[in-house]
Amino acid sequence: MSDNMKINVAKIFGENVFDDATMQERLPKKVYIKLHQIIAEGGELDVETADVIAHEMKEWAIEKGATHFTHWFQPLTGVTAEKHDSFITAPMDNGKVLMSFSGKELIKGEADASSFPSGGLRATFEARGYTAWDCTSPAFVRQDAGGATLCIPTAFCSYTGEALDQKTPLLRSMEAVSEQAIRLLRLFGNTSSQKVTPSVGAEQEYFLIDRDNYLKRKDLVFTGRTLFGAMPPKGQEMEDHYFGSIRERIAAYMKDVDIELWKLGVTSKTEHNEAAPAQHEMAPIYAQCNVAVDHNQLVMETLKKVAGRHGLQCLLHEKPFAGVNGSGKHNNWSLTTDDGLNLLDPGKKPHENVQFLLILACILKAVDKHAGLLRASAADVGNDHRLGAHEAPPAIISVYLGEQLEDILAQYIATGTATHSIKGKGLSTGVKTLPDFRKDAADRNRTSPFAFTGNKFEFRMVGAMDSVAQSNVVLNTIVAEAFAEACDVLENAENFDEAVHDLIKEYATTHERIIFNGDGYSEEWVAEAARRGLPNLKAMVDAIPEYVTNESVEMFERFNVFSRSELESRKEIEYEIYAKTINIEARAMVDIATKQIVPAVIRYTTVLADSINSVRSACPQAPISVQTSLLKEVSACLEDTKVAMLKLQQTIDIALAMERGEEQARYYREEVNTAMEALRKPVDRLEMMVDKSMWPMPSYGDLIFEV
Ligand code: ADP
Ligand code: MG
Repeated sequence: MSDNMKINVAKIFGENVFDDATMQERLPKKVYIKLHQIIAEGGELDVETADVIAHEMKEWAIEKGATHFTHWFQPLTGVTAEKHDSFITAPMDNGKVLMSFSGKELIKGEADASSFPSGGLRATFEARGYTAWDCTSPAFVRQDAGGATLCIPTAFCSYTGEALDQKTPLLRSMEAVSEQAIRLLRLFGNTSSQKVTPSVGAEQEYFLIDRDNYLKRKDLVFTGRTLFGAMPPKGQEMEDHYFGSIRERIAAYMKDVDIELWKLGVTSKTEHNEAAPAQHEMAPIYAQCNVAVDHNQLVMETLKKVAGRHGLQCLLHEKPFAGVNGSGKHNNWSLTTDDGLNLLDPGKKPHENVQFLLILACILKAVDKHAGLLRASAADVGNDHRLGAHEAPPAIISVYLGEQLEDILAQYIATGTATHSIKGKGLSTGVKTLPDFRKDAADRNRTSPFAFTGNKFEFRMVGAMDSVAQSNVVLNTIVAEAFAEACDVLENAENFDEAVHDLIKEYATTHERIIFNGDGYSEEWVAEAARRGLPNLKAMVDAIPEYVTNESVEMFERFNVFSRSELESRKEIEYEIYAKTINIEARAMVDIATKQIVPAVIRYTTVLADSINSVRSACPQAPISVQTSLLKEVSACLEDTKVAMLKLQQTIDIALAMERGEEQARYYREEVNTAMEALRKPVDRLEMMVDKSMWPMPSYGDLIFEV
């Protein structure tokens, strides 16, 4: 390996992060201790301390080449937003400028909130929004072609303190689950843990295609997904891509992504090809929930940015190609104490680990009670093509526990206790030189939306483009509620041991229906789930109302995660996002059909007609049935296309005239979507008939096999 190919990971890791080690090194000891205490225990930073931190942060950032700073936040659009300010102050008398950054600028910023969705929370006369430093997520310097910027992770609230972002409720939910988990741990005699933090590792799937091809596809450029496209002769049926060796161009890209992410302190760990051609996945090592959420945003940004440098385009849409696997995120979630215990670790003898079993039973209860809400937390427009649309995972929430834990709970249901744990069986590889390894006690189930995988739960419904914030807000809060309810019972119990056993039995019995270890993609499961009374919310518009059910509102208000008005506003925003997105897609379809497809097909029919005429005059005896039947067929399809375009345009006009809100969103879902599908059909048929050299855009085959 030549020298310039060697990467010193240890040296570059976190080099652009103002992390704990950097703070310890650069901040006066008193200031460092104070900040550290606030990070660990919460509390507010005073202005003097903030001034010192801001100054050191600025000096450090300038050494990294930063000229600007920004409060980096996550409004409800799903992507991050930022407003850049330079460090420069007004020129002094001598004409020189100073580079300054005050504590006030660090901890609080003012952003014009009017350009971000607020769902009616922010009256138009009060356009101000405030960003506040989340000091538990470290600041970092982002370097790219545009220069270097100090980014300060922040929460974003309205003037009256209502959350306008993803971060604020996330932090609130983390506090809620910590408080209730500590309550629960105390009951089991734990006096050492002071805080419990959700740990999150978000695996990210994405597609990589050639950028030149991408630019020729207006549908991808406008909407992130293909709106037309016939299937290539070879799809993913050979399954030769999954874990296939990574081609050099892609490998070079991934290496660059890793370096960028490592500098930002993101622990990018694994990369591999995914099920579909051109599809890949990356996973970081898990981190505390809010940091993991920030990091996932950085991962998405970096995947896109680095792709450009390699002549590639990264597609994060949940379903860029119809008929080919879509992309999602696996949100791995567990609870970790400040003294290093993973509360979801079953230990060697799970049947004896009553604390673990109670926690497990609480999670079952939480997921069963709030299945609709959890489903809603993963709803985004693109995800409608995956969830409930014959693809992984289904729209029905169920929990996979694996044989061992399911058996222990079954023992509880039958007898109120458990006496043994099924052991992992030996697995023989049948090859003498390979060691036989023990099979994990819990086998993998790839079709479950919520699967226990050893010492964590894996929520697999989140869309590839979406923030994982919302899902973690819901997870943290529903589990906080279940813990609180268990504590309410146990704190008043006369005989704690008996009460715990009774509670595990009760929860396991009542919520057994949510457990499903079988094939989540099968038709039988859909019918079985209906029999069990589990919700099957197929579309985003069906899931949105789950935010404002009485059960949701009561829970979120009890734990101060969302107020009713915040939930109402989120509901409105989601409907609006849905309507806007489909509107863009529908208009893009009409546009592409009108300006690219119809003209190309007309050109092709002219070629056919000319050919018929030329052949006829050159040689009247020669058969021309191929040309004539093709001409007839293509012309008929063209006619169908025209009719479908008109119909789609009509539905768009009707939708646009409707008032914003649920009804409009439903109209988009039912009428506009249907009209879009109807337009796609004849166009995809045409693509199969028209001379490839005349088709106005690269085909699916070009897009997914030419990388
Ligand atoms: P998989 O086979 O599903 O890819 P991995 O072991 O590679 O499983 O882990 C996937 C993700 O889960 C990684 O991001 C990893 O850091 C994360 N993870 C592992 N343990 C935990 C945990 N206790 N809590 C949260 N996330 C975890
Ligand atoms: Mg996984």
